[in-house]
Amino acid sequence: MEDPREALGEALAAAADTLRHHRALGLTEVALHRPEPPDSSVALAEQERALQGCTLCKLCQSRKTIVFGSGNPKAKLVVIGEGPGEEEDKQGKPFVGRAGQLLTKMLAAVKFDRERDCYICNVVKCHPERNRNPEPDEVAACNPFLLAQLDALQPAVILALGNFAAQTLLGTKDGITKLRGRAYFYRDVVLVPTFHPAFLLRNPGDQYKRMAWDDLKLARREWERLTTATT
Ligand code: URA
Repeated sequence: MEDPREALGEALAAAADTLRHHRALGLTEVALHRPEPPDSSVALAEQERALQGCTLCKLCQSRKTIVFGSGNPKAKLVVIGEGPGEEEDKQGKPFVGRAGQLLTKMLAAVKFDRERDCYICNVVKCHPERNRNPEPDEVAACNPFLLAQLDALQPAVILALGNFAAQTLLGTKDGITKLRGRAYFYRDVVLVPTFHPAFLLRNPGDQYKRMAWDDLKLARREWERLTTATT
């Protein structure tokens, strides 16, 4: 169809047909608003309850606690790590050990309060023994839970910490050194990859610290851009 006015006329006629059909079915009102999404705190609490006793992968044999996530369910920044360490396994909360303390400081350096502004979780919810890397079948088993969490949270920005989080979410085998330094789109969300704080503790030189600082500033800028109303 060449003439856009003709196309518009046909679209309006089709819409009128649909409305007449609805009226014939007895419908008297047309809702023009989208239904409110379910409350994120309620959705997350239900997900956490449903996960209790999970035996979908072998990590269930060695874990003490399922470390679901913590922070503000309304936060627009979601921070995603690899998997709970020993301390997290004991306490049932993500990032409470040494890497967690550094993470809290990194977030504070760009004015994010970890409890108020962030929700923090991991790619896998159970501690891999001796802090080994999670295996592909374990990441795959846990992935639906991470996706459901993100659906409930609807963040504006994701800060992906280290290889596992960045590679799992972006579906790539590229390493964090290559991936970091820019923002990506991940399911309508801006994703900023950066070094895992445990890596920064093992590599204390200025070189990595400076790159992480740049990434954090980028995450902050994106968060401000996406959460500040423009009207
Ligand atoms: N490292 C992670 O990736 N996650 C935690 O929760 C703790 C340490």
